[in-house]
Amino acid sequence: MRSAKPRPAKAAGARPRRMVYGFGAGRADGRAGMKDLLGGKGANLAEMTLLQVPVPPGFTLSTEVCAAYQKNGGRIPDGVKRKVLAALAKVERQMGRRFGDPEAPLLVSVRSGARASMPGMLDTILNLGLNDATVAGLARCADERFAYDSYRRFLAMYGDVVLEIPHDRFESRIEACKLDRNRKLDVELSAADWRRIVREFQEIALEHTGRPFPQDPSEQLWGAVAAVFRSWENDRARRYRKIHAIPDGWGTAVNVQAMVFGNMGDDCATGVAFTRDPSTGDKLFYGEYLKNAQGEDVVAGIRTPQPINRASRRAGQEQLPTLEEEMPRAYKELVRICQKLERAYREMQDIEFTIESGKLWMLQTRTGKRTTQAAVKIAVDMAKEGLITREEAVLRIDPHALDQLLHPTLDPDAERKLVAKGLPASPGAASGRIVFSADEAEARAKGGEKVVLVRIETSPDDIHGMHAAQGILTARGGMTSHAAVVARGMGRCCVAGCGELRIDYAAGELRARGVTLRAGDVITLDGGTGEVMQGEVAMVTPKLGAAFGELMRWADKIRTLSIRTNADTPADARMAREFGAEGIGLCRTEHMFFEPNRILAVREMILAADVSTRERALAKLLPMQRGDFAEIFRAMAGLPVTIRLLDPPLHEFLPHGDEEIAEVARALGRDAAALRAKVEELKEFNPMLGHRGSRLGITYPEIYRMQVRAIMEAACEVAQAGVRIQPEIMLPLITHVRELERLRALVDQEIAAVAAEWPGVRVKPSIGTMIEVPRAALTADLLALHADFFSFGTNDLTQMGYALSRDDAGKFLPDYVEGGIMPDDPFVSVDEEGIGRLMEIGVNGGRRTRPGLKVGICGEHGGDPKSIRFCAKLGFDYVSCSPFRVPVARLAAAQAAAAGAATAQGRKRR
Ligand code: PEP
Ligand code: MG
Repeated sequence: MRSAKPRPAKAAGARPRRMVYGFGAGRADGRAGMKDLLGGKGANLAEMTLLQVPVPPGFTLSTEVCAAYQKNGGRIPDGVKRKVLAALAKVERQMGRRFGDPEAPLLVSVRSGARASMPGMLDTILNLGLNDATVAGLARCADERFAYDSYRRFLAMYGDVVLEIPHDRFESRIEACKLDRNRKLDVELSAADWRRIVREFQEIALEHTGRPFPQDPSEQLWGAVAAVFRSWENDRARRYRKIHAIPDGWGTAVNVQAMVFGNMGDDCATGVAFTRDPSTGDKLFYGEYLKNAQGEDVVAGIRTPQPINRASRRAGQEQLPTLEEEMPRAYKELVRICQKLERAYREMQDIEFTIESGKLWMLQTRTGKRTTQAAVKIAVDMAKEGLITREEAVLRIDPHALDQLLHPTLDPDAERKLVAKGLPASPGAASGRIVFSADEAEARAKGGEKVVLVRIETSPDDIHGMHAAQGILTARGGMTSHAAVVARGMGRCCVAGCGELRIDYAAGELRARGVTLRAGDVITLDGGTGEVMQGEVAMVTPKLGAAFGELMRWADKIRTLSIRTNADTPADARMAREFGAEGIGLCRTEHMFFEPNRILAVREMILAADVSTRERALAKLLPMQRGDFAEIFRAMAGLPVTIRLLDPPLHEFLPHGDEEIAEVARALGRDAAALRAKVEELKEFNPMLGHRGSRLGITYPEIYRMQVRAIMEAACEVAQAGVRIQPEIMLPLITHVRELERLRALVDQEIAAVAAEWPGVRVKPSIGTMIEVPRAALTADLLALHADFFSFGTNDLTQMGYALSRDDAGKFLPDYVEGGIMPDDPFVSVDEEGIGRLMEIGVNGGRRTRPGLKVGICGEHGGDPKSIRFCAKLGFDYVSCSPFRVPVARLAAAQAAAAGAATAQGRKRR
């Protein structure tokens, strides 16, 4: 055996850190891939320099310096200072100017630049290096007014950011001067005015700090660099990091860069541009600029920016000249550079530029923010242009963002008055008059009114009202509560679990945050954020466009998971097919029982005193169920349809309250008191763990027999008409192998009985079980002996595995999620380390007994991108989700496959 040689002392990791990275004149120490060290801005400045794009020279103090600064008790280490001075000397040589030189002064900007974009969170200082001597030198290079205007800007920014003098102290001096000189705009002030203001600003600084404003440019520089590092810890930055989950330890880089001026005269300008239209995604160079202005003027909005070209003209800008017309040479150069940047980055870029005396300089480039519609169009176009692959195009779209394309959303510019916030249970937006009952929702909607159904919580009794309403708001319930699940299935916007609402049905009002709203008042819901607003808020309805269809086709080619839908009605089934569903993964038969013309027969069945009475009631339901199933089979022709036998506790179907009980008793010709006693008898302490699911099939086998018969008869009828069908019968809430064995025998028997009545028609449903109870997951190897497929009911599996009530968790779960105890709401994204383990045990156990066992998921997690990735990892065959989520699931499944392929390739390479 050879002994390992000792490593040389100066291994790669021990190399002294560079800390300061220069860029300029076509050379750079950094590059685009070094965002962790240089921050986004610094890395891109280096990259642009390497691409031979004109960038004012400068240098970046890395994020490691930020860490060293914090560790060093808020002092910049001496070694770093030496490196900064060396880098500065290089910039001086490149610019032909010297820092602090009264004849030809070099001025610099000092800006923060974190790894992740943190807009407006950290601070910028421009024109650093100006003092009472260099301002004269600047005046000689340009003109006096410009020089003093620049000086006062520097004093105010430095005063604000470094000396922490309230900004309005400076602003109020400018306002006083304008008043005194009878001027309206800053641009109307003269050199003498600015000179006076400069003096006054210096007095403010002296008064505030007790020291004269620093005249030494080096002192200015260290002060500014330290202020940027300090700003990483300010409240705004901390809050932003918390909201966007940016680690505190990242720190920020600081970019020091030679100033170029867009405000030196009429051959100067400053502006921003996007390489493609950020709202539509069209391949149009799009941007705005201001002549004779500095960057902050564009942001300040005092002057109206001009469009850079005709394509960028908006309504009302027809008369404004464009950059293309005013400075054609610089414009042409700008177009050329932007194309180059887009090619290099293979992404739409958002750039900042300045034109100084006709010469174009690029100050920043970064990936441009865009609407979802634009994101889809840009990704598809770039793939067609050969800039990126189709896989990359598919990976670039956030599946969650597709909700924006599939539902109306609130106009981002519209005013809103927030009254409460709940859980974002079903996406989209809705406005309407408040109604507190499902019947009223239905009645008013029939009369053409738009209503929002507000309930403490919803139950299956409310389905008709939920359907009629524009949106649903509940005070109780989590992300898989009845309201949330049903609303998502219907594509209705829903805010659930809004605990701060106080709903008073009797008074017909709701209260929140000191506001009282009454039945008939208009409210607006944002199902994407959970916000509830008073009054009507304007909405936008996005268009899907051809690019969306194309992207989806590419996604379908990449993904390996099938995408099914949870649909209970033929209408849902048809809609889901349009969204691209490849089957039904869950048809909850109980939802059909609530139709007004059926509920009486259902109640009769439940209240039956003996088997023969129950069978008579079931016989009334049989043709109705058969009709539904036949229509669903036709709608899903050729695709698998999983029908689940009755699941909820029976008392859910019974009347509540004396009035309703009396009404039902009358309709059934029964005694009201006896009926009330039966309702009481059926009540349970823990209905979710009570007489529900397959337990109903054990106690009342005739119910399941009727359902299987209805499925089989429908299947035979449709198959005989020549339609290809694939029925699948699923048993809910299975907990024990013998329970499954017994029920499977019952199902098989009934199938055989119907098959015998339809000679010549071959229909062979497969029979499977839900895995939605921890015990089922743990004994999956046994269950697989009697199941042709598994479907994970992760709503109940989470409820029971995590001991979290689906209907009550909304009250306390936010404390866990927002408090950082749980990374996500486990009803939204599968809790991989807990419930996920049960799923893994379940799949593996099932497939050990029955290799190749078909496995899917039909809990709400089937539409959640993160959970879909997890299911792909566990080797599931399909996911099933509500119709509106089908496109989201198609995309997420493709991304899971593409990411999986990339990991596998990575493993192979290694
Ligand atoms: C589940 O529990 O995940 C499921 C799909 O069943 P339901 O939501 O109807 O209880
Ligand atoms: Mg369930």
